[in-house]
Amino acid sequence: MSELTNLTIVGARDLLAKGEISSKELTEAHIVAVEAARPLNAFITETPEKALEMARASDTRRAAGEAGILEGLPIGMKDLFCTEGVLTTAASHILDGFHPTYESTVSRNMWDAGAVLLGKTNLDEFAMGSSNMTSFYGGVENPWRRSGDNRPLVPGGSSGGSATAVAARCALGATGTDTGGSIRQPAAFCGIVGMKPTYGRCSRWGIVAFASSLDQAGPMARSVQDTAILLRAMAGYDAKDSTSVNVAVPDYEAAMTGDVKGMKIGIPKEYRVDGMAGEIDQLWQQGIKWLEEAGAEAVEISLPHTRYALPTYYIISPAEASSNLARYDGVRYGLREEGATLDQMYEATRGKGFGAEVQRRVLIGTYVLSAGYYDAYYNKARKVRSLIAGDFAKAYEKVDAILTPTAPSPAFGMGDKMDDPIAMYLNDVFTVPASLAGLPGISIPAGLSAEGLPLGLQLLGKAFDEETVFKVAGVLEAAAAFEAKPAFLAA
Ligand code: GLN
Repeated sequence: MSELTNLTIVGARDLLAKGEISSKELTEAHIVAVEAARPLNAFITETPEKALEMARASDTRRAAGEAGILEGLPIGMKDLFCTEGVLTTAASHILDGFHPTYESTVSRNMWDAGAVLLGKTNLDEFAMGSSNMTSFYGGVENPWRRSGDNRPLVPGGSSGGSATAVAARCALGATGTDTGGSIRQPAAFCGIVGMKPTYGRCSRWGIVAFASSLDQAGPMARSVQDTAILLRAMAGYDAKDSTSVNVAVPDYEAAMTGDVKGMKIGIPKEYRVDGMAGEIDQLWQQGIKWLEEAGAEAVEISLPHTRYALPTYYIISPAEASSNLARYDGVRYGLREEGATLDQMYEATRGKGFGAEVQRRVLIGTYVLSAGYYDAYYNKARKVRSLIAGDFAKAYEKVDAILTPTAPSPAFGMGDKMDDPIAMYLNDVFTVPASLAGLPGISIPAGLSAEGLPLGLQLLGKAFDEETVFKVAGVLEAAAAFEAKPAFLAA
């Protein structure tokens, strides 16, 4: 870890602005770090030459007085965002050799703001997973270790490559996408900050689709302010995405006033789930105390349909996925296996191109959408989804934000839970409800488990009120003063 790679985005931005460092120097230091971290497998594609070219162009722009809000900052891009001319895989075999001829709106926004691409980060195949173990390119290793135990742990998923890259100081920040928790849970497992904005805040155009009514892009970085800076550049209305919402993007940094006096923070009683580790509950209580000490008031609330959130999510998301993934037919993209007939070619291509988890979801999705079961499963799930959204709407009549743990456990071992999909799906128990309701949420590293692993607290906000989320998160972050660093950096 060099001094340059240990900077926050705020710190790097200041040094760049003062002319004390160049984007070229900053980028070179990160390219070295990306190479040194190869054993973690955080990147599917490294783009060092492109990075240096972008850094030089950035230094030229700055010299001409044209610095954007991410000017010269090297970042990782989850390999679910289409990047023009740069291999885009969604961590799937089926997208072999896919070089998009277009750029996703979010990545385009970031390059327009001056950011530099270090590479495409690893993820669960098509963003389906909570461990990053379903990637065709192999699992990602969490840079953290349990104390006195060198067994490798998962970084969480699906944005596990981005979380590892940021935690291991390979990138100042990275993008993630969150369908049911894929930004917040890996952020918690890797001891960084991850923010899922309101559905519709960032354009989905050019992001490989998983479940279109849930997918949302967001930033991952090492401080709340850093994620606020990234989100401002990523967000914005886009006519190319019909679900993108035409509202102004506020200055999220300016919202971080540190003042939460008199604010009401909801504590949902249904989130006290069975089997949750005692240390997670303790951290949650600690979080409540921190906010009370800062002058906020904790209010118990009820989100009565919480227990239906996971089953609802695991009907709606596979249903949408089965439809979205129908386009991978061996004709239009990537892999193609031969077959005597067209149907056999489809079958052979999809059978080989999709991994086991993706196939499971396509099967579940096809089943819940089939003629005889559509009403019993899919339509029922849609109704329950609106009840869940209604729970939040009611709660937000009384409170400004909601505090919960991010995940029910710290990072687990690589290979654990692989033969038990239900145990794997339980990772999302605290993140999925807000996804179904389309609400913004952030995970902040707030403490360490007894075994020395990072634990996250989650703050949820009202639709399009990311400002309050950032404000409260900043206060929580200051109180938690999380300074611990992953074992990988000491090695
Ligand atoms: N773990 C959840 C799933 O597997 C969420 C994934 C995500 O948010 N992309 O569906």
